[in-house]
Amino acid sequence: MKDGESKYAYKKKSAWELFSKPQITTAFTFAEGYKTFLNEAKTEREAIHVIAEAAKKQKKKIVVNREKSAAIVIKGKKPVRDGLRIVISHIDSPRLDLKQVPLYQDSESHLALFETHYYGGIKKFQWVVIPLALHGVIVKKDGKKITFALGEDDRDPVFSVPDLLPHLSHDIQDNKKLDEAIKAESLDVVIGSLPAKGDFKEKIKAAILEKLHADYDITEQDFISAELEAVPAFKARDMGFDRSLIGAYGQDDRICAYAALQAILDIKNPEHTVLSLFVDKEEIGSEGNASAQATSFLRSLIREQDANVDIDSVLLKSKMISADVSSAVTPNYTDAFELKNASSLGNGIVMSKFTGHGGKYSANDASAEYIAEIRALLDRAKVPWQTGELGKVDKGGGGTVAKYFSRLGMEVVDLGAPVLSMHSPYEVASKADLYSSYLAYLAFLKS
Ligand code: MN
Ligand code: MN
Repeated sequence: MKDGESKYAYKKKSAWELFSKPQITTAFTFAEGYKTFLNEAKTEREAIHVIAEAAKKQKKKIVVNREKSAAIVIKGKKPVRDGLRIVISHIDSPRLDLKQVPLYQDSESHLALFETHYYGGIKKFQWVVIPLALHGVIVKKDGKKITFALGEDDRDPVFSVPDLLPHLSHDIQDNKKLDEAIKAESLDVVIGSLPAKGDFKEKIKAAILEKLHADYDITEQDFISAELEAVPAFKARDMGFDRSLIGAYGQDDRICAYAALQAILDIKNPEHTVLSLFVDKEEIGSEGNASAQATSFLRSLIREQDANVDIDSVLLKSKMISADVSSAVTPNYTDAFELKNASSLGNGIVMSKFTGHGGKYSANDASAEYIAEIRALLDRAKVPWQTGELGKVDKGGGGTVAKYFSRLGMEVVDLGAPVLSMHSPYEVASKADLYSSYLAYLAFLKS
């Protein structure tokens, strides 16, 4: 009782203090692979590609859907009709997407730019004046696909959204509300300034088109069938004197995706058939044919395991972890959180009974029975964990993919790493929480 609390009280503890010395060393080593993953997988397509390569290397069965979602499957000792153990994470992150007719020359500033449409929930002012890389695919009319990633190599050029200098922004920006100071249509990316030789109306645009044609064999119309994303050109880095944290773009939700990937790669002969699902489009409401709501993908995976099984009854007996990040208590803004129920960096993986917003609207509210089961499982496996919620009641909120699967009748709970500065170009996570997430998913998939 040296901390002056009853032994019956619930107290959050630091994962760093719960881990043994060798575990701390392992957590740091684990983070090295994670940083490489973040640098190689900045888009949903790249993430699926890296995940598929890792699975193939370890001779694991992977099914890829449209380059944007995938599942690693391992058959269990028990029959499929006894239900599955599924960990689902999403591999898309907020960013600036290029529009379908993106290229223009601004004659006043003498620059060529790309029009963008932001993807997911962003604070627009965070996306100006940072180095951006362009990633994605361009599909030509004949089906030929050009894969694009420019701005990652130190010798590559980068791109950027310009902002007004402080000397001139007083009336135009400074006295406006934060979310009105930068307009969505002002998030255009500078891509060049050299004029072409010749008699063109717009010489800079003409020069860019000539360069794009020479380098990539594309015309302006090819952008219409392209998916190009401007993402922060930053590399994942250790953060802090003690190197306990990681600063990087796209940790929501690739921190959970990486932990889930490593967990299933380390599973042999599981009791139940296990699945690690990686899905796209979570950040825009899980719409589309590679999202969590495209449950035909899961159904087809189950049927592939056992053609005679009744899929609905398998779904009813299945258990899932919705592996998505939670908001960590943010220094200087602790007022936004109800601190007894908020999660903090370094206290382990976060269990959120429910998500949604005011009045638990739109939430998957996991049952007390299932929470008890997961809590016992985590304690048995000595995994550091904490509870969490997405800010004060009626002050915010957010959803995950959990609700789409609980609707199918399975048990689902949200369990993921806490992240600081979520949805910003530079999110921060703890190495202890990353490793706790891996341990949690591993214990669950083995159950
Ligand atoms: Mn997320
Ligand atoms: Mn998110």
